[in-house]
Amino acid sequence: MEQKQDKLKEIISHAKEYGFVFPSSEIYDGLAATYDYGQLGAELKNNIKQYWWKSMTQMHQNIVGLDSAIFMHPKTWKASGHVDAFNDPLIDNRDSKKRYRADVLLEEHIEKINKKIVKELTKGKKRFGEAFDETEFRKTNPNILRNQKKIDNIEAAMKKSLNENDLESLRNLIIDLEISCPISGSKNWTEVRQFNLMFSTEMGSLAGDASKVYLRPETAQGIFVNFLNVQKSGRMKIPFGIAQIGKAFRNEIIARQFIFRMREFEQMEMQFFVPPGEELKWYDYWKSHREKWHKNLNLGANLYRFHDHIKLAHYANAACDIEFDFPMGFKELEGIHSRTDFDLKQHEQYSGKKLSYFDAELNKSYVPSVIETSIGLDRMFLAILSAAFKKETLEDNAQRVVLKLPGALAPIKVAILPLVKKDGLPEIANELANQLKFDYNFQIDLKDSIGKRYRRQDAIGTPICITIDHQTKEDQTVTIRFRDSMKQERIKISAVEDVLENELGWKKLLLNLA
Ligand code: ATP
Repeated sequence: MEQKQDKLKEIISHAKEYGFVFPSSEIYDGLAATYDYGQLGAELKNNIKQYWWKSMTQMHQNIVGLDSAIFMHPKTWKASGHVDAFNDPLIDNRDSKKRYRADVLLEEHIEKINKKIVKELTKGKKRFGEAFDETEFRKTNPNILRNQKKIDNIEAAMKKSLNENDLESLRNLIIDLEISCPISGSKNWTEVRQFNLMFSTEMGSLAGDASKVYLRPETAQGIFVNFLNVQKSGRMKIPFGIAQIGKAFRNEIIARQFIFRMREFEQMEMQFFVPPGEELKWYDYWKSHREKWHKNLNLGANLYRFHDHIKLAHYANAACDIEFDFPMGFKELEGIHSRTDFDLKQHEQYSGKKLSYFDAELNKSYVPSVIETSIGLDRMFLAILSAAFKKETLEDNAQRVVLKLPGALAPIKVAILPLVKKDGLPEIANELANQLKFDYNFQIDLKDSIGKRYRRQDAIGTPICITIDHQTKEDQTVTIRFRDSMKQERIKISAVEDVLENELGWKKLLLNLA
């Protein structure tokens, strides 16, 4: 664990040093849990957006995009349930004065027990080798059975308290399990209280409730209220989806762990509208499609796991998270929810406008059911950064820090390195850059030895370096060097674009999702 925490620290300082992520308003000592994306971070973030956007809209004929406003009519949030129910149960430790989410304290306790199970499984795997049967082992190993029972009991008690909004029994559970504050080590807890997560502000010059508006806590509602606008103007036929990328705001009780949990963040959400009764079929489809999307980045299949929700949100009839093995352990990266017809029906009721769809094939009108996929862009950024960040020892015992970013996502795609600053080599570099700049971000670097320049590009994840030397002038060839394998090849300048397309092109990345 300690090692993993160290890794997070290293990633944070690497991200700052190379211009990926800065603490916000740093010259004023920063603002808690707010971050700015620097010159390379902005590129990486844009590329992640593109990967998502293209896979949703370009790769699906029946999914279109939307860009709705952050401010919405305040009734929206009454209808969606956010005014009354978008709360987190919070608890304070009286000694450290630190505030926690009661459900998160319990989940972390469960994770500790789960770690004991994983340890037992690892021992079993070692002992039985090839013959190891995990299902059987889980069913028979007394330590695993005991710990699993503990987990099941805690989960059941937690689910009951959360569903019944019984804050006292939630607190009692924390006391009974002897959960202590990680900072003070004490078990001196306050009562549990509900805390609404929406930010509000005033619109126009009138103060008070009449002009109170909220900063949206999710982008989804902008999609629901535009459901008919898009359906009618785009002549969309169910099943179809609407995708949106945009900022969301939540006054999180504890915002920490770098860009994992912020008060201002960005979401990539897609709502897929289906005939009522077909939602679970489509829920399964989206679960497997989203898993494929993640694994297609080749960051490591073992870094993902599904987690079914213990407590279903007020609108859902099935929900799970895709969790990612962040430096702080497995945590939610994306949620997939079957939201039924809850949102559209609520908006019908609160707006007094019909939001039904006439299905010509079935010859009837209905309010569709909805499957949602919702991923935090910043969390995806952190997932990619932490999986890509590697420290390697080279043959000559030198160290290199390298970001093994998927080629299409890398902020700088190609570095052009003239061996020396004279003899016409920089001019050839400029010529090549002028040819590549329409498709690829590039850097021309003239300073220091080639070895040092390679290290600098490794540290920012540039997949390809092209070195121009005196031979280039004679035979129009360059040395192309690949970041991950560090292999070098001599190729014709005229072949460079093909190599880049093959290594970094969107088509290559998206092909597996077709
Ligand atoms: P958590 O349980 O971690 O608070 P959530 O279940 O409230 O997350 P959703 O409402 O399902 O999250 O939001 C969808 C996605 O938005 C999440 O999977 C996550 O990637 C992202 N997200 C939610 N809250 C934050 C935040 N405070 N900072 C960054 N990303 C967030």
